[in-house]
Amino acid sequence: MVVKIPILVVEDEAAIRTGLCDVLAYHGHAPDGVESGEDGLRRALATPYALVLLDVMLPGKSGFDVCRELRAARPAQVILMLTARGEEADVLEGFRCGADDYLTKPFSVAELVARVEALLRRASGAAHVDRSPFAFGAWQVDPAARSAAREGETVPLSARELALLASSCASAGGS
Ligand code: CA
Repeated sequence: MVVKIPILVVEDEAAIRTGLCDVLAYHGHAPDGVESGEDGLRRALATPYALVLLDVMLPGKSGFDVCRELRAARPAQVILMLTARGEEADVLEGFRCGADDYLTKPFSVAELVARVEALLRRASGAAHVDRSPFAFGAWQVDPAARSAAREGETVPLSARELALLASSCASAGGS
């Protein structure tokens, strides 16, 4: 059985939102579309999404605001921002807000799918194959919770950190 990966699409333009959801569904994912930043943030905080596709230009709460608040509440959340073409300032601001990657509009379907797949792969690493906790030095890493614990201290791990830990453990595991 193929597990569908939940993805949240936050985009106010209906045609683009529908298009994004259709493409993601076609590629075997389970997209949910919302049209405002407020709704996006609420949904993302209530439901664990593997990836949040976040448009910068939203009425009310902007994509940057959503990204900042979402990142603060869920350090491991994978966020892909959609920015307007040529807006370098938008790209930089996006990264400052904690976006993992960005796509500039207009983008091709192939480009979108490639970015999404790369981010999901990076985020899961070996963790999707085996999500049971493992030891890394003195740390006990919990892939499902995306955290590491040592002597009662628990720290959240970003998707990238978790993938790094998981892959270094996987390569050392054979010995
Ligand atoms: Ca928009």
